[in-house]
Amino acid sequence: MVGKYRVDGKKSIKLKDFPTADKGIFKNKEEGLLKLGENIEIISELQNKLYAEDTYSLLIIFQAMDAAGKDGTIKHVFSGINPQGFQIFNFKQPSREELDHTYMWRTSKSMPERGRIGVFNRSYYEDVLVVRVHNLLSTQHLPKEKQYKDIWKRRFHNIREQERYLFENGVIPIKFFLNVSKEVQKERFLERIEDPSKNWKFSSADIEERKYWDDYQDAYEDAINHTSTSYAPWYVIPADKKWFAKFAVSEIIKETLESLNLKYPELNKTQKSELKNYKEILLKEK
Ligand code: AMP
Ligand code: MG
Repeated sequence: MVGKYRVDGKKSIKLKDFPTADKGIFKNKEEGLLKLGENIEIISELQNKLYAEDTYSLLIIFQAMDAAGKDGTIKHVFSGINPQGFQIFNFKQPSREELDHTYMWRTSKSMPERGRIGVFNRSYYEDVLVVRVHNLLSTQHLPKEKQYKDIWKRRFHNIREQERYLFENGVIPIKFFLNVSKEVQKERFLERIEDPSKNWKFSSADIEERKYWDDYQDAYEDAINHTSTSYAPWYVIPADKKWFAKFAVSEIIKETLESLNLKYPELNKTQKSELKNYKEILLKEK
């Protein structure tokens, strides 16, 4: 049901061919939420094994237009997760310190440890999205001769190589683009303005960014086409219905964890017999 949202570089895609609204095989929201609940439980069990194995980790990247539902999706999908094995980082406008480094510095030092699920709420992809749309290269302290004409292609190449390196070392990248429509973004902005408990989520920058909608769609499409690979696929998730986006994300994470064939570590014979000894020692205690 979610396979059709996977983009893995076999052929190039057009974003407008991907629906922003879908309800899959579900009759209604309730049915979808039920399945989401089941997935949350399964993910939680798989996470225990991931942690116990201490070998693989997941790097889950969320990218989207404003109000597409990144925060709510993260909050809901990971609600069954043991915080001990979970790491989340938000990447916003870079600080001065960050701008004094290369663009993947801040994300590289935030990579999940083995056994962990790591989430990036935005990522190094901003450096081929907002930086491209708003022409922010001049803020990045690059030497003049390194501001290549084909810099975005070069960055896509950097990113593919970085993700291959991660994958080949046991960090499994999963990348979600929450695909919301311009109309639904408007509805959600209006809701944020009208509902006092949501006012804090609204910023004037949101209106400013909305003017660049088409440029962003182009930048996303180009980035997705150049960085979708078998080892680090993109998923273009219909996000107009929040419940469906959450379900789809949970399904993909569940399937990815299942594909890793995770198992609790098994003890060898000597270790097992040692356990017997320890048991006797404990039982003999007065
Ligand atoms: P939000 O996720 O709504 O809190 O907003 C964070 C903002 O930071 C977004 O508008 C991003 O586009 C922006 N941002 C993230 N990374 C970068 C970057 N490397 N350069 C410029 N702006 C960025
Ligand atoms: Mg925002």
